[in-house]
Amino acid sequence: MDLGISGKRALVTASSKGLGRGCAEALAAAGVDLVLNARGVEALEATAEAIRAAHGVTVTAIAADITSEAGRAEVLEAAGAVDILVTNAGGPPPGLWSDWSREDFIAALDANMLTPIALMQACLPGMMERGWGRVVNITSQSVKAPIPALGLSNAARTGLTGFVAGTARQVAPKGVTINNLLPGIHATDRAVSLDGGVAKAEGISVEEAKKRREATIPVRRYGTAAEFGATCAFLCSVHAGFMVGQNVLLDGGAINTTL
Ligand code: NAP
Repeated sequence: MDLGISGKRALVTASSKGLGRGCAEALAAAGVDLVLNARGVEALEATAEAIRAAHGVTVTAIAADITSEAGRAEVLEAAGAVDILVTNAGGPPPGLWSDWSREDFIAALDANMLTPIALMQACLPGMMERGWGRVVNITSQSVKAPIPALGLSNAARTGLTGFVAGTARQVAPKGVTINNLLPGIHATDRAVSLDGGVAKAEGISVEEAKKRREATIPVRRYGTAAEFGATCAFLCSVHAGFMVGQNVLLDGGAINTTL
């Protein structure tokens, strides 16, 4: 399917690895020029080069912490006018509800709620003025089915989801859509680190932890960044103009719910 977005320009934050990279690659495959971001320069440059070589699109790479005001300013300055915004950042660490301090909550809210909101506030006016835009926020299945050990993530992402629900309806008349993509377990560094946490907590090997987590998913495997990216690219396509404010779950059927 021609996604109809060749020649558009996208900012994908936190995109040197994992799901962000999957989204960047799928957009590049559709002919979209990219601005990529991550904190670590080496992996970021390697990803940018790999995407340039594979897809022949323009890729600008900005090494910065997207959760800091200075980092965002640097990334947004380099990005300029973008047609597509995919927001992403690292997820907060797991833990116990009784351990988290105000500072822990502020850090989680900054990374997974206030950062995507600030990025939208920066990019939406230009999109609305030009009469076309797509925003996809990478959130989590925990928005629909909270994961107890990820209380910081549950709290921050639910806040973002509420913001998007209202805002998506306000910008839609100008040809701009905002939707959220909710990953279930995907085979990325983050999943490996969560497997490690489960292994430690239960006194089992990382392989056993992975096997047990796979068994909870009806497709019996983790999702891939490529599958995730393909769905993101579709949400950014000309075909998804009637999809507004949705929370699209990609979890291999793990969450047993009708809606
Ligand atoms: P990942 O494989 O660990 O990749 C994270 C990417 O984000 C890396 O490129 C990393 O590069 C970059 N990054 C992290 N913090 C950043 C920051 N402050 N500023 C700029 N870049 C940053 O993670 P993932 O699995 O793709 O997960 C992406 C998001 O989806 C996370 O929020 C995660 O919690 C959520 N999620 C993932 C899963 C899953 O199963 N994978 C499930 C549910 C939700 P640097 O470290 O070099 O900055």
